Amino acid sequence: MRCTIVLEFDNGDGSVVKRVEVMRLHRPIDDQTHGDVGLSHGEGKSLLNCVQQEFVVEQIERFCAPRRSCVDCGAQRRLHDNHCSELKTALGKVYCCRERWKACDCGADGSRYVSPLKDYLTEASTGELRWLHAELGATVPYRQAKAVMDLLLPTSGRDNHVTIRNHTVAVGTTIQHARPVRRWCETEKPVAELGIDVG
Ligand SMILES: [Zn+2]
Repeated sequence: MRCTIVLEFDNGDGSVVKRVEVMRLHRPIDDQTHGDVGLSHGEGKSLLNCVQQEFVVEQIERFCAPRRSCVDCGAQRRLHDNHCSELKTALGKVYCCRERWKACDCGADGSRYVSPLKDYLTEASTGELRWLHAELGATVPYRQAKAVMDLLLPTSGRDNHVTIRNHTVAVGTTIQHARPVRRWCETEKPVAELGIDVG
């Protein structure tokens, strides 16, 4: 048996714009362990990582494409350079292309170059991965948290227990300094009736 997993990206209208083959699985019919059906855990992790990789690339391309035109004169900015960048996600490490464009000749940009992802991808990891690290890091020892992450999810690269500790402390600091969300009963006095049953 052979199974091909293909991703289809469209514009939300159902018309397929781009198809990407992410994985091809093969199972010999006459050579299977009794009861051993379905994708293996390792195949599942690889599949998630492959889907994440293609998804991120497509998402970034669609984010950058409409921003390449100058908002003032509409001219397309020229490519200056690009480099491959790593992004650690909860579903594994992925790679993306960070472009730098020459500023528009009309002067609207106010700088020499424009980096479209500068304010979009500001960290080397996604917030979800940092949250997962903090969630586990607050519950079990950091080394154990790392072992659980490695066991269940695709690898996010060179992270170790120190990374998990740093993310746990960072999230904890953010929570400590965040303004508490006040419920309505803490900001205005509730109307309540009190009855005493003396019977
Ligand atoms: Zn312009």
